[in-house]
Amino acid sequence: MRKRSIRFKLTLWFSVVLIAVAGTTFLAVLASSRMVLRGTIRDYLISTVEENVDNIQFVTAKSETASSSYIPYASGYLMIDLDFMKVINNVYTALYTDDGDMLYGENPLSRETVGLAFTESHIWHMNVKGVRYNLYDRRLNIALPDGSALWIRGVVPETKSTTQLTEIVQISMILLPIIIILSGLSAYLLADRLLLPIRNIEKTAEEISKKDDLKKRIEVKNSGDEVGKLAGAFNRMLDRLENSFETEQRFTSDASHELRTPTSVILAQTEYTLGNKRSPEEYVEALEVIRRQGKRMNSLISDMLDYTRMAQSPERYKHEQVDLSGLVLETAKQMELIGSRGISLRAQVQQGLTVNGNSMLLARLLQNLIGNAYRYGRENGHVLVSLTGEGSADCGAEGLPAASKGPGIILAVTDDGIGISQEDLPKIFDRFYRSDSSRSVQGTGLGLSMVKKIAELHGADVEVISEPDKGSTFRIFFPQT
Ligand code: ADP
Repeated sequence: MRKRSIRFKLTLWFSVVLIAVAGTTFLAVLASSRMVLRGTIRDYLISTVEENVDNIQFVTAKSETASSSYIPYASGYLMIDLDFMKVINNVYTALYTDDGDMLYGENPLSRETVGLAFTESHIWHMNVKGVRYNLYDRRLNIALPDGSALWIRGVVPETKSTTQLTEIVQISMILLPIIIILSGLSAYLLADRLLLPIRNIEKTAEEISKKDDLKKRIEVKNSGDEVGKLAGAFNRMLDRLENSFETEQRFTSDASHELRTPTSVILAQTEYTLGNKRSPEEYVEALEVIRRQGKRMNSLISDMLDYTRMAQSPERYKHEQVDLSGLVLETAKQMELIGSRGISLRAQVQQGLTVNGNSMLLARLLQNLIGNAYRYGRENGHVLVSLTGEGSADCGAEGLPAASKGPGIILAVTDDGIGISQEDLPKIFDRFYRSDSSRSVQGTGLGLSMVKKIAELHGADVEVISEPDKGSTFRIFFPQT
């Protein structure tokens, strides 16, 4: 049973329930019909007998005009009206003396009831040759000269009612199995139809795992029902899987590509240097090249590791309330120490600003932005780090429009360096992207990707305004939470 399909189980369950419901209903209807029919028969028996009672009178002499039957009795006559019903709708009525002699009417059980005493106004039963009879006796309220009593006995067999019930049972015995088979079949077809999308999901999953094709999607016909929603959720999961798989692949290929350059330079340099005997100066020069490329590889690998950690397991960076004003001041002070080429750093920080975030990541974001401002700044230039709250207009970049995004905190880093061309602007946040103008400066192309990722993890927006040869402003907008 455990290995049976859902379709089979549904059909079986539905059929069993249907048989139970139909069986119980049938038995209940049968029992109540029997009761109702018997009640109707009894009522009809009583009413027929009672009506006949009114059709009997005792007279001393026959009337010339009356069209009735006259039975001589006790020095007079029993006048029986023509309305007296001997047999009507299977109800037999007969007139009896107190001693049990039939005077008038009909009784199919006259032989079986010979000598049986009368019981006043009481229904009783008798089974004769498999047929159940209802009997009802009624004493006549006629004062007779000899003081004797007269009785009317009504008899009705239940044959008619039982025949009707037997017919109902026979019809039901034919109809019920047909209804059950038809319902079972429709349950099977319905289950088959309802489970079709699930089979599609199974088929698609099978195809994906066999062919490694993450592009496949399930066809969702009715997105409103549960199965449609499941298919939709499955498709969304595939979208995400495909996306992260592609990102993973692109990252691996970009990373290999980036690492290939320094590796090739190191190999070429060593081949060249070892190819012939070199002077000590030439050896030193070769080692310098190798050291430079080694350093480049080192920073590439450590940036790649940092970025991957951040992108793949952001949950390892716990969030807490961070004193952003303090963090910006502290980071700016540290970065001031490594300033180069005569570039000066100034910090303009509004006190008491806090955000919910990770202090290590926020410090890294600022280090990357200041690092870029140094590297792409002009000699003896200026870098301004500013932090302002509540969406105030001063973001630290003179002459540049303020971010108008509503209340929040704006962190901005402005330099007066080489700037970024309009063409490069949309690409600088891509991983490993480096503009041609910055090739002479050491870098990995991952700094701004990290900035963007960190901002994302804090629900912040990144904005850049730049003009070639004038400078750039990078703004991070932390919305008020
Ligand atoms: P990297 O600086 O290591 O090349 P980034 O991701 O930090 O990588 O920056 C990507 C590119 O964006 C840089 O190569 C440079 O062309 C440009 N860029 C970033 N910051 C600045 C800046 N402050 N001034 C001018 N160009 C910048």
